[in-house]
Amino acid sequence: MKIKTKAIATRCEKCGYGFVYPQDRKEHLAYHRKIERARQYFGNFVLIYAEREELKRQGRAIWQNENLPLSERVDGALMEITGWYARALAESGFNRRFESFNKYVRRLLKTSPQLYPKEIRAELQKRYTVAS
Ligand SMILES: [Zn+2]
Repeated sequence: MKIKTKAIATRCEKCGYGFVYPQDRKEHLAYHRKIERARQYFGNFVLIYAEREELKRQGRAIWQNENLPLSERVDGALMEITGWYARALAESGFNRRFESFNKYVRRLLKTSPQLYPKEIRAELQKRYTVAS
C-alpha cells in the first residue's frame, strides 16, 4: 500500500518561495538555486519579500525622523531605496545586466524629485553623482 504524503503549504525562509510540499518541491528547488546563484553575484541586493518590506519600513522611519542627524537620515533613505532596488532586481529575474545601484539612485532622484526632503536629496545627489 502506498502511503500518501500529506500536502503542506509552506514558505522557504531562505528564498521566500511559497509552495505546497511535496507537489511543488522541484519548482522550489529550481527557484532556490536561482536565488543562491543570484546572491553570489548580487550579494546583499538579493532580498526576499519580507526582508525588502522590513528594510523599507525601517528606512522610512529613519529618514522621516527629523531629530536624527542628516547622515543617518540619508542612510535611512538608502535603506528604503535598497528595498525598491531589490524588488526591481528580482522582477528582472536577476538579470546580470540590470542597472547598478548607483545608476538606479541617480535615475530615481531625477524621475522623482519630490521623493525626499531637499536636504536629503542634496546629500544623495552628492554621493551618487560623483560615483559611477
Ligand atoms: Zn528556498
